[in-house]
Amino acid sequence: PLVLGIETSCDETGVGIVRGHTLLADAVASSVEEHARFGGVVPEVASRAHLEAMVPTLERAAETAGVRLHEVDAIAVTSGPGLAGALLVGVAAAKALAIGLGKPLYGVNHLAAHVAVDQLEHGSLPEPCLALLVSGGHSSLLQVTDITTGVDPMGATIDDAAGEAFDKVARLLGLPFPGGPHIDRAARDGDAAYVAFPRGLTSGRDMERHRFDFSFSGLKTAVARWVEARERAGEPVPVADVAAAFQEAVSDVLVRKALDAAATAGIDDLLIGGGVAANSRLRAMAVERAERVGVRVRVPRPGLCTDNGAMVAALGAELVARGRTPSSLDLPADSSQPVTQVVA
Ligand code: ATP
Ligand code: MG
Ligand code: FE
Repeated sequence: PLVLGIETSCDETGVGIVRGHTLLADAVASSVEEHARFGGVVPEVASRAHLEAMVPTLERAAETAGVRLHEVDAIAVTSGPGLAGALLVGVAAAKALAIGLGKPLYGVNHLAAHVAVDQLEHGSLPEPCLALLVSGGHSSLLQVTDITTGVDPMGATIDDAAGEAFDKVARLLGLPFPGGPHIDRAARDGDAAYVAFPRGLTSGRDMERHRFDFSFSGLKTAVARWVEARERAGEPVPVADVAAAFQEAVSDVLVRKALDAAATAGIDDLLIGGGVAANSRLRAMAVERAERVGVRVRVPRPGLCTDNGAMVAALGAELVARGRTPSSLDLPADSSQPVTQVVA
């Protein structure tokens, strides 16, 4: 099926067009630079930017794909989770298209879309698979038996998301927002063994209660204390080394728990998605350790890991292909749509 997908849950206005597993267009406009000086996404600024970017991004996607809008089989849109005002812009645009063109509308889950996007790169999803979803707002281990109906959480972060930790630590190190890509780059010249930062929820009692959960706020505090101590002593902070050691700690916990969860669930396919899946160390470590235990790893290319419309179209195409019931035309934006609800 030919499906158009719209994404506006945070600060990227994305419109993607796919035909089955084939990506035809992936137009993204980002308001990230408008938020940078605030050190985080400002919801009102994001909503306004979506309003301004929606129609031009839609036109750009249609032109790139060489598709006329009336040719599409369905419209998919992120209905949640995300920023309420930002989601509303995409949902309103999708409804207008669905009604105007007389096409079915699918309000889809942003997190499931971060997983489904991999089929644009590597073909049909292996089902069941274990998905490690790591992004700016979420860090979860999901058992996926059917990406259109069966997404079951095994664990999640009990405090900060992995991407949030990257962004906060980047700030401590004086790197720009969003920090993930800057830490990734800085860490290339660093020594990952320079400091042994804590691995949250990986030992003792914590493992009994939180075996598949994550915690990154203690790690962030440990980095903050370490940096402060250096500054108090009047010594320079080795940014590359701290970035590398922090990135090592995050990747180590993510990969360890993902492989433990896969083994426990008896699943041989690990899929990594979300913005943090763009991280070069996480990708390399996952491939290396998974190979040792006979688990196959799939990670979409970095450009498809961060927010985009193609991921929404990819999930929409799967819903159409499997004959799932479309959403109602009075579809609401649901800022806290649970990961188990793939279609609203
Ligand atoms: P959610 O998907 O939970 O709603 P979001 O949509 O805001 O959150 P994404 O766009 O999926 O998040 O991911 C953004 C996050 O990914 C940011 O925290 C950013 O720092 C992080 N990120 C992006 N690239 C990298 C990288 N190379 N290394 C580490 N983190 C990265
Ligand atoms: Mg973003
Ligand atoms: Fe996201």
